[in-house]
Amino acid sequence: MRIGHGYDAHRLAEGRALVLGGVSIPYGKGLTAHSDGDVVIHALCDALLGAAGLGDIGRYFPDSEAEFKDIDSRILLRKVVQLLNENDLAVANADIIIVADRPKLSPYFARMRENLAADMAIDVESVNIKASTTEGMGFTGRGEGIASHAIALLSSGSL
Ligand code: MG
Repeated sequence: MRIGHGYDAHRLAEGRALVLGGVSIPYGKGLTAHSDGDVVIHALCDALLGAAGLGDIGRYFPDSEAEFKDIDSRILLRKVVQLLNENDLAVANADIIIVADRPKLSPYFARMRENLAADMAIDVESVNIKASTTEGMGFTGRGEGIASHAIALLSSGSL
């Protein structure tokens, strides 16, 4: 078994769609990034790549490449999982925290889990999503941005 950890944060801005875990959330602001800014998937990709000893998301999808401009991050996640499979690694489970004081995210957890489980080709029960606030402290508390932490476990070969 191999374990990996990932973290990502992006700045909130007006006029962008808020996409977390592949779910579009009505908020009036979204995360600015070269891609769709999905910090949940970016943190998860880094956890998966970290567990595999394969570096990080920027190595495979550099933000200098036009190819990845505004890209749906679920495409990146599926490519990462494909890379793991090519290295004889399978995803066992993942646990994700989203750090945001607003908006309220729990109504979207089920759809996020379904998306991520489908992209990783694992059971929904093997993907956990939760959210935490920081009680007004720091950039997440002030509503300047949203962060996410992820941890993932991989197993060698077929489970
Ligand atoms: Mg990112």
